[in-house]
Amino acid sequence: MHEFNCGHQECASQFTSSDKDNLMRQVADHLKEVHNVQTATQTLLGYLETTCVTTTPDR
Ligand SMILES: [Zn+2]
Repeated sequence: MHEFNCGHQECASQFTSSDKDNLMRQVADHLKEVHNVQTATQTLLGYLETTCVTTTPDR
């Protein structure tokens, strides 16, 4: 299971997904809708993935 915790101040959004690609799509949508980031680049998503995504083993 992959869990995203938005690192933006005053934004405590959290998503979980068993599929990381699916999770990162939700993250990209979130950035667009909430943080006004129209283009979530791979660089940005990669950065967020290492800083805001935690992965726990599936049971
Ligand atoms: Zn956010």
